[in-house]
Amino acid sequence: MSTGIYERTKEHNQKISLALRGRKLSKEHIFKVSKTWFKKGECSGFSGQKHSDETKKKMSEKASLRVGEKNHQWKGDNVQRDCNGTALHNWVKKQLGKPQECWNKLCPLKSNNFQWANKSGEYKRDVNDWLRLCVSCHKLYDLGKLMI
Ligand SMILES: [Zn+2]
Repeated sequence: MSTGIYERTKEHNQKISLALRGRKLSKEHIFKVSKTWFKKGECSGFSGQKHSDETKKKMSEKASLRVGEKNHQWKGDNVQRDCNGTALHNWVKKQLGKPQECWNKLCPLKSNNFQWANKSGEYKRDVNDWLRLCVSCHKLYDLGKLMI
């Protein structure tokens, strides 16, 4: 009789560990999904993520400072309106320019089109969170097949 209780506990533990593992997976998943957006150049229901509230706040703070400055057309420092990721990609380009090299030491140099790849998947406004990668290494990196 008591075995039933035991098994339930075991199952419960398994569920917990699965849930914990699932968390990691879903982060990766989000990362991949957000990458897909760049290609499609569109946003789906993901736009209401963590940052956006904070960003909106900052945007409106800035907006109030800019009153009187042709703010009809002002789109918020060209940040947001589109995906977090796209805006941040633009931000990185602004800070560091377009990448001209690939930081993968074993890069086969099959591509001469270089991109900014995000390290953490959190798209931080931190230049250290970004890597210079060619298109082919970028794809591998996003799939988790390349460690830099
Ligand atoms: Zn490369």
